Amino acid sequence: MTVALILAAGRGERLGASRPKALAELAGRPLLQWSVDALSAVPSIERIVVALPPGAGASAALRLPSGATAASGVKAASGARTAPGMAWPPGVTVPAGTIGVPGGAVRSESVRLALAAAGPGDPVLVHDAARPLLTRELTERVIAAALGDGVDAAIAAAPVTDTVKRVGERHAVLETLDRTNLWAVQTPQVFRRAALERALDVSDEVLAQATDDAWLIERAGGTVVVVESPRENLKVTTPLDLALAELLVAGRTAVD
Ligand code: C5P
Repeated sequence: MTVALILAAGRGERLGASRPKALAELAGRPLLQWSVDALSAVPSIERIVVALPPGAGASAALRLPSGATAASGVKAASGARTAPGMAWPPGVTVPAGTIGVPGGAVRSESVRLALAAAGPGDPVLVHDAARPLLTRELTERVIAAALGDGVDAAIAAAPVTDTVKRVGERHAVLETLDRTNLWAVQTPQVFRRAALERALDVSDEVLAQATDDAWLIERAGGTVVVVESPRENLKVTTPLDLALAELLVAGRTAVD
């Protein structure tokens, strides 16, 4: 069974909001809640671990699916729990069994900390809370690809549609890349557990360079495959991205 790690510990400074990005609201729900809900709908995911932003809701009550509350750090009746001294942020409701941990200074460190708290489960799915519009369908395709023969990891990605140039000093173009084989990488990324544990067993310097975890597998010689994902699976970085996500959510509702 799959264990899912949601990374929500970034500060999200480019969004310009006063709260961490994962708690910015999209159609009335925190970004983090969207990923929690989408991943909870996947039957093969048996547990979710969330790397929470520093100070997230530390003084807020722990919100349980039932609406009951418990002191932070206490294993709640529902089985949802956070690390001592932490609580689920206000407005975030998680399924029973969900674990919350403090995130790390860099993204891969948050992965390492969440994996350490995850308990058993293979494969391991890693998803950025900054991508609230993932679907159950995409998630299941990525999990299936990761379980393929000889595969160490499968990652959601989209073929690049813009022409991409490498630029040097004073914005001078150095080269134009052949985009036929270029893919822009997203999450979810799904890893065979042993491969991910090996890949994360590196120095803090190497870890700090990793903008995605699949790179850590690649540099260790592992096999990573891409799974084509819809453009809707966008990453919320700026206020414009949030506005686009609002439009996409409104479109979903109109179609439903
Ligand atoms: O900074 P960036 O947008 O690349 O972050 C991608 C994801 O990683 C976000 O969901 C963010 O919350 C998470 N992250 C984290 N711990 C960090 C930095 C980022 O969980 N130290």
